[in-house]
Amino acid sequence: MLSERAKKIKPSPTLAVDAKAKAMKAQGIDVVNFGVGEPDFDTPEHVKEAAIKAIRDGFTKYTPVGGIDELKDAIVRKLKQDNNLEYAKEEIIVSCGAKHSLYNTAQAIYGPGDEVIIPSPYWVSYPDQVLLNDASPVFIKTYEEDNFMLRPDVLESKITKNTKAIILNSPSNPTGLTYDKKTIEAIAGIALRHNIFIISDEIYEKLVYDGAEFFSVASLGKEIKDKTIVINGLSKSHAMTGWRIGYAAGPKEIIKAMTNIQSQSTSNPNSIAQKAAVAALNGPQDFINTMRAEFDKRRKFLTAGLNSIEGVSCLKPNGAFYAFPNVSKLYGKKAGDRAINSSLDMAMYLLEDAKVALVHGEAFGDDNFIRISYATSMENIKKGLDRIREALANLK
Ligand code: PMP
Ligand code: GLU
Repeated sequence: MLSERAKKIKPSPTLAVDAKAKAMKAQGIDVVNFGVGEPDFDTPEHVKEAAIKAIRDGFTKYTPVGGIDELKDAIVRKLKQDNNLEYAKEEIIVSCGAKHSLYNTAQAIYGPGDEVIIPSPYWVSYPDQVLLNDASPVFIKTYEEDNFMLRPDVLESKITKNTKAIILNSPSNPTGLTYDKKTIEAIAGIALRHNIFIISDEIYEKLVYDGAEFFSVASLGKEIKDKTIVINGLSKSHAMTGWRIGYAAGPKEIIKAMTNIQSQSTSNPNSIAQKAAVAALNGPQDFINTMRAEFDKRRKFLTAGLNSIEGVSCLKPNGAFYAFPNVSKLYGKKAGDRAINSSLDMAMYLLEDAKVALVHGEAFGDDNFIRISYATSMENIKKGLDRIREALANLK
């Protein structure tokens, strides 16, 4: 009954864990939810007001497919000001979230026979979006000792005549680590030498800590900019996950193809959310600093706490809002009759026994780890850490 394409993909595991934690909560179970990557802050008031005004003004009809000019202007200005990138409006498309921008990109440039390089651990939707477009994901493992950055020499060794693109995500979901400039320069050089695209997912750019500096690979020069599709959105920077506004910037021809695809699939992103996004990008940005400072406190507390648990080790993440501890030293142990031999066993044990929801590393391509989102209150983090500590101490 189903197409081969539909059979190849699975539902987003991060959204699945979140749904399960919420269902347990609805049953009255006191679950600490470290599952989903979604800021716990409310969307800023002036952004909400802009949306209410849009409704009152009757801004409730179809808009141009790729987004209203006012929003594209705001994105062009943002990219110039924050990232030193110059784009024309025809090089921008607004979509229903960054996930949709990534999907449109995949539809526009991947096809049968193409290989797309995905450094692992990776964000859950990258491989499935490649598969949905009949191309093949090629995973390259990255290691804790390299701060989970792709080694340029390994990248070069995996490139074939079929390699179409590489997906870069810095700061990274799930590792919480930010690439350094030297490594990004080396990757850009390889992409140019082999004529492959870089899909640069920059959704966590505003969330960097410990002096880490974000910069876009596209800002390294015109040549690499012409081979890069920059992906970004408002979900993380402005606590706007539910509004569904993301965007892509890239070569005109690709953006035009993405707009055609969007015109035949979703049409424009929500008109009201577009007006809200204009207010978010053009209005005061101090909200971001407040949010980042709070994430920073939680990050330090959580990583110190995790590293104090026997058998757990965690790099100090310098970006996004995830910790990605290695728990593999505990594999082979048991809680009563229950054996813990994988990240899924660990996540299920912590959910059922300790009532802590988090995502198994295997969903991100590395079974030695679990992902903890610290986009939740300090109180929840303390409670969750205590519960994890106790549950892990019971493993024999
Ligand atoms: N990329 C990464 C790395 C993410 O973590 C997310 C979060 N869901 C997205 C893209 C998509 O964000 P959204 O569709 O909410 O804009
Ligand atoms: N990016 C978030 C996460 O990784 C949201 C979930 C999703 O879109 O899959 O938890």
